[in-house]
Amino acid sequence: MPEAPALHHGQEACSYADLEARVGALERRLAAWSAGAGGGLAVLSRDRLLTALLLHAAPRAGLHLLPLNPDLPAALLERLLRLGGATRAVSDGPPAPDALPTLTGAQLLSAGPASGTFVAEPLAVEAIHLVIATSGSSGEPKAVPLSGLNLAAAVAGSRTVLPLGPGDVWLACLPLFHVGGASIPLRAAAAGAAVVLHQRFVPEAVLADLHARAVTHLSLVPAMLARLLEVSGGAPPRGLRHVLMGGAALPGPLAERALAAGWPLCASYGMTEAASQVATRCGLRPGWRPGDVGSPLPGMEVTIVPEPGVATTTGVGRIRVRGPAVMAGYAGAGRPTGAGIEAGWFVTGDLGSLAPDGSLTVLGRADEVVVTGGENVHPAQVESALSGCPGVVEAAVVALDDPVWGARLVAFVTGAADPGAVLEWARAQLPSPWRPRAVQRLGALPRNAAGKLDRAELLRLAAQ
Ligand code: ATP
Ligand code: MG
Repeated sequence: MPEAPALHHGQEACSYADLEARVGALERRLAAWSAGAGGGLAVLSRDRLLTALLLHAAPRAGLHLLPLNPDLPAALLERLLRLGGATRAVSDGPPAPDALPTLTGAQLLSAGPASGTFVAEPLAVEAIHLVIATSGSSGEPKAVPLSGLNLAAAVAGSRTVLPLGPGDVWLACLPLFHVGGASIPLRAAAAGAAVVLHQRFVPEAVLADLHARAVTHLSLVPAMLARLLEVSGGAPPRGLRHVLMGGAALPGPLAERALAAGWPLCASYGMTEAASQVATRCGLRPGWRPGDVGSPLPGMEVTIVPEPGVATTTGVGRIRVRGPAVMAGYAGAGRPTGAGIEAGWFVTGDLGSLAPDGSLTVLGRADEVVVTGGENVHPAQVESALSGCPGVVEAAVVALDDPVWGARLVAFVTGAADPGAVLEWARAQLPSPWRPRAVQRLGALPRNAAGKLDRAELLRLAAQ
């Protein structure tokens, strides 16, 4: 379908024929530049159009792609470049560290192929095509190598729960250097659908394009949904069929507000190591049970293993995943090292349970569980409860050490609610160990580039 729309970016529109021409030109330039040396092409550019084109072009030129957040501290970038096996870089900021051969995006786009052009061998499907960084919630981001087969399996699995085809339009407002964003151009290209690329998340611009571009699919993290509801005040366009909610727990009250306004939410659980979705429940209805993310995608196996210190009678334990989309181990020099994989399973950092019908409930991250008064408290569940308080838009909870209880919770809220009213709400809604002892109001919650809570920063604020 050469005439079908492939990409929209600002005022630029590009058909599949145009996309092929642009990707083909990039592939030839990359091949001439790397002359068959292989390895990883790091992208340290804010230009999401360039990154989207390189997702396709790099593997065709025999290079795996390593898209990185250019705002990361230099030492961290250097580490990720090394782990990701970078052999050259495209950078619009300062030159890439590590003295890597570097071009700017403009140089790469404008440099004609050298005469006597080197013809590159495309990467085999078994080879690593993409090395992508995790969000760094637990500390330093990890580098996850994904093969062509991993990505193809993830794309195919996604389509079984989120049907996608020609005529469909997926709006991408997540960064392309994390898996939630990078997956979108790959899913769309495999299905002949179009992508509307936004350079950054601006709720008004997203709302306008949902209408103007007849968007059918949208990926968001919960904080983005909260902002969209704040500015929208009404129902989304009727053509919007799937809003894929991932990256963090979707608070129940936020889901209820969105569902009441007619937003077609899908609750998804996924991670970089599994090339995005592990389980997804589509067609959420009012009364959805927070944490319920539906059945694992076809081909994705999920088991729960007992977690020391967590009662097994409740069926809650550590979530493990296995399947053709799951990485073969964290990266060293761009290749899988096997690290992170135990007996063929990726042992996640999350706790959850499986219902007899096979559906998965995610409780939260094991490293965030707070033990207070002898109880295991999941911050995500407290956050969900607090965000139901009238006037609260978003809530976050962290724990400080407490000599008597082991830990005491401090809550942060955004919105017009009075901290006293939030404490009162917590008394009415939550058992004692789950209640925050203090509430602070913030203009906005600190978040990382993936849109996840920056809990280290919250802890710093709580300790002040
Ligand atoms: P790092 O691995 O560097 O600590 P990270 O785990 O946040 O960071 P990602 O791979 O981007 O990096 O995110 C995957 C994680 O996001 C999951 O392991 C889980 O903790 C969280 N997550 C994703 N979806 C959900 C969900 N539906 N409910 C709760 N948590 C979720
Ligand atoms: Mg992780």
